[in-house]
Amino acid sequence: MKKLSTKIWILIVAYLGLTIAFMYVFADFLYEQLYVEDTKESMIEIGEKLQSMYRGGKVTDEYVESVENINTYSNFNVFAVRNPRELSACVPFEIDYNALIGPDERRILLKGEAVSKIGYEERFQRQVVSVIMPLTDQERLEGIIYIYYPLAKITELAKLEVLTFIGGAILFALILAIFVYKSLQRIMRPLNDLQFAVEQISEGDYGTRVKVVSKDEIGKLSEAFNNMAEAIQREDENQKTFLATVSHELRTPISYIKGYSEAIQNRYVEGKERDEAMNLILREASRMERLTNELLQLVRKESQNIELVPIVLSETIREAVKLLESIAREKNISIQLSLDENIIVQGDEEKLKQIFINVIENAIRYSNKDCNITVRSELSKSDAIIEIQDYGIGIPAEDLPHVTERFFRVNKARSRFDGGAGLGLSIVEKLVKQHNGSLSIESKVGEGTLVTITIPILEE
Ligand code: ADP
Repeated sequence: MKKLSTKIWILIVAYLGLTIAFMYVFADFLYEQLYVEDTKESMIEIGEKLQSMYRGGKVTDEYVESVENINTYSNFNVFAVRNPRELSACVPFEIDYNALIGPDERRILLKGEAVSKIGYEERFQRQVVSVIMPLTDQERLEGIIYIYYPLAKITELAKLEVLTFIGGAILFALILAIFVYKSLQRIMRPLNDLQFAVEQISEGDYGTRVKVVSKDEIGKLSEAFNNMAEAIQREDENQKTFLATVSHELRTPISYIKGYSEAIQNRYVEGKERDEAMNLILREASRMERLTNELLQLVRKESQNIELVPIVLSETIREAVKLLESIAREKNISIQLSLDENIIVQGDEEKLKQIFINVIENAIRYSNKDCNITVRSELSKSDAIIEIQDYGIGIPAEDLPHVTERFFRVNKARSRFDGGAGLGLSIVEKLVKQHNGSLSIESKVGEGTLVTITIPILEE
């Protein structure tokens, strides 16, 4: 397989060769054309002079002689004859009289005009130009002047010049070919680098980057490649962190469960302590169950394209609240609803419910006992606005931008006790996005948190 640069190079050199060949042929043609024209003109000029010496009447022997005298000092061969048929006697080659002066030519001659011919002559092995000039008296052809000249070939005309021309052309082509080859190598180098870098990436070396040396298509390609490599590297790192976090989150409950069940099995704990150990095992198992459920949600919703259908918003919110009533009651928290019953949104029932469960559960979990929580819904233009307000512990300002990140918890130690793995809000954010909505959180430490969710309504 040939390299791309070699292919382009061959193409350019081939075009170059063709161009030079064409130029050569064209120059040859042009030169010959000019030379022939020039010769013909000089012949006619001489012919006209001789014509003017003719005084009319019969063509005299003196006239014929004086015309033939020209031959001594002219390059051309000049003859005057009374009868065109006598011509063949004067020239050293065959003349086909009928072809030379046919009816058409005769007409032109009778008008007093010159006839010129060009043809290859075997005897001279070259082209012969001939001009016939009439000698007319009162519309009668009294005789003709015949001038001919064997043309030189272009190679004879300018032997040295032609050689220089060909030599120059070859040298020029050679220099250009080398130059083109070098330039192509320079242009292609980034492509080679790119190929190497792609191989590195496919071998798992995501840190590979290429140098961007130009602003052309290849430069843009290199830039795009670097961006892609960075994205892959980031994704790879994310995945590693995600796996590490998941393993870490699972390790703690597993070690708890292992430790307590071993203690029970070996009868290190008895009676009340044993019951406590059993409770702990149950709690940690529930935590793992919840974590795996959340992980499943995270994975599932990323790979699924959800179908949105009309849903009565207030009903979905009520269902979510109902599921959370028991944990709210444990902390003596009352959830107050102020819902617009007419709002119908475009949504997926289960996912919409999950959004409200996660947010309201947070509100309960991060509120102190005997608090209120309000859930409001209202219409604003083509959006449904849902606000979940609690008067709980709040989120520190510096943590607020991070609460929707995976596994982010404001207070790691406290949250572990409360049971969250820091996935709830990241799930909410993704689900809201799937509903073409938006999520915003405002909070003040010690005062409470307001979560605002916006979801487009069903437009008629
Ligand atoms: P988790 O499942 O641990 O609750 P989330 O993603 O739902 O995780 O929330 C991330 C963190 O944001 C929580 O650990 C918590 O510290 C904080 N947070 C979320 N909601 C509230 C709230 N209503 N009040 C106070 N802090 C909150």
